[in-house]
Amino acid sequence: MVQPNAQQTIRLEQLRSFVLLKMAEIHDFQSSRFATLEKIPLGVLRKNATQKHGVTRWRQHTHHLSIEGIELHPELLCEEWQEYAKFVLYHEFLHAIGFKHHDAIFRHLESRWPLKNRKKVGRKFTIFLQRRNASWQWVCSNCDILIFRKQPSRGKYICKSCKTVLVDEPLFS
Ligand SMILES: [Zn+2]
Ligand SMILES: [Zn+2]
Repeated sequence: MVQPNAQQTIRLEQLRSFVLLKMAEIHDFQSSRFATLEKIPLGVLRKNATQKHGVTRWRQHTHHLSIEGIELHPELLCEEWQEYAKFVLYHEFLHAIGFKHHDAIFRHLESRWPLKNRKKVGRKFTIFLQRRNASWQWVCSNCDILIFRKQPSRGKYICKSCKTVLVDEPLFS
């Protein structure tokens, strides 16, 4: 678990308070569950993570699992992403109170969160992370598609929509 710095800790605690207040309004949760959520250590993912936006870490004991903590992507802690950050923390809180899998009940509870277009926002955040870490863009000369990657594609990838071979362009940052 990456230890958050002082500023990140303040942001994480603000997010925690907000999400808990909202969850109390949603009514689907027993208040006894909130006691757990108030105490869970909050941390941050590695800065260069691109796949995960948040994660709940578990510790394996002989007969049970306990929660080690919840980590959010550090880029989620800036103001620009705060609405999405609240949703990601809510998603992890659902895992933490025992809904371990993304099954029908989980998806129902998740849908109670009032952020519209959250899939779209999630994709936008993924692209933002990929772009930030990229040294190359893979370009389709036919479509408007740009793919951001650390490595060049070296003629090995084709565009999903038109099957044209993607061309590498270096990014200078
Ligand atoms: Zn999940
Ligand atoms: Zn194309």
